[in-house]
Amino acid sequence: SGRQIEGDKLPRYVRVNTLKTTVDDVIDYLKREGFLYLGLASRMEDLQNFSGKTFVSDLHLPELLVFPPKMDFHAHFLYQAGHIILQDKASCLPAYLLNPPAGAQVLDACAAPGNKTSHLAAIMHNKGKLFAFDLDAKRFSTMSTLLLRAGVTCQQLANQDFLKVDPESPEYSQVEYILLDPSCSGSGMVCLQDSCSEPQEEEGRLKALAAFQLRCLNHALHFPGLCRLVYSTCSIHTQENEEVVSACLQQNQGYRLVPLLPAWPERGLPPLTQCLRASPATTLTHGFFVAVLERRPKEEEKGL
Ligand code: SAM
Repeated sequence: SGRQIEGDKLPRYVRVNTLKTTVDDVIDYLKREGFLYLGLASRMEDLQNFSGKTFVSDLHLPELLVFPPKMDFHAHFLYQAGHIILQDKASCLPAYLLNPPAGAQVLDACAAPGNKTSHLAAIMHNKGKLFAFDLDAKRFSTMSTLLLRAGVTCQQLANQDFLKVDPESPEYSQVEYILLDPSCSGSGMVCLQDSCSEPQEEEGRLKALAAFQLRCLNHALHFPGLCRLVYSTCSIHTQENEEVVSACLQQNQGYRLVPLLPAWPERGLPPLTQCLRASPATTLTHGFFVAVLERRPKEEEKGL
């Protein structure tokens, strides 16, 4: 199907894990191995008009290197040693946009297998505290392994239902940043293998997912110290994206949307154009959605 062809054509994105190395060191390492580095991409077309052992730096995300489709790094030293993380460009957006400072207290609500968690830790320079929850025991154990390999040390993990975490607990009173990447239909994931079947997109299932996502979002907004939250899905359905965010904003007037990356080529559906969307056709990534919410200043809240 069309989905499979698209999956094969997506560039291979490599995020440099700055907890273990630097972008320059990875570039030098690859050059010594015979790779040709073409420098910083300046347009979307620069991400796809090359082949073989060639790569560029991404134009939107500073720690991202871009290779031709199907370039396989799973057996590579840099991957095995945790110096690089194989992560789609769109899924690098949430941590990058949340951008917690070093020393902050941050919560990753639905964290496994932990790629966004390790990205957050890198942005925080491993300083501060990173609470990460996941309900699924198997995915949770994968996350522990992945974070160890990535050199993350500021985490506090719990194999726990985020909806049962008490926002009022003194333990979380300093949490100012939350990343919420809840279970979704996965309808944005383009297939990479022949065996990959179309995701089931039945109306009842979407409705249940959207209700769960809204509950998670409302729950997250109840953490008393929260300043900024990123909500993301790998879904292309409005029900799981713009509709969840709109409903949440209606119920929580103390929060507003943050306008994101003016240079990003695909926006949330109107009127939520502050948010970002991603797709194989426009951003050369899997389908994805990101919204950033921030607490309104106190004076403004009173005026509402
Ligand atoms: N953020 C992850 C990453 O980048 O590696 C991917 C997260 S995945 C989209 C959603 C995760 O939410 C799954 O691992 C699932 O087990 C977890 N989950 C589902 N319901 C949950 C709940 N009530 N509390 C905590 N985690 C939950």
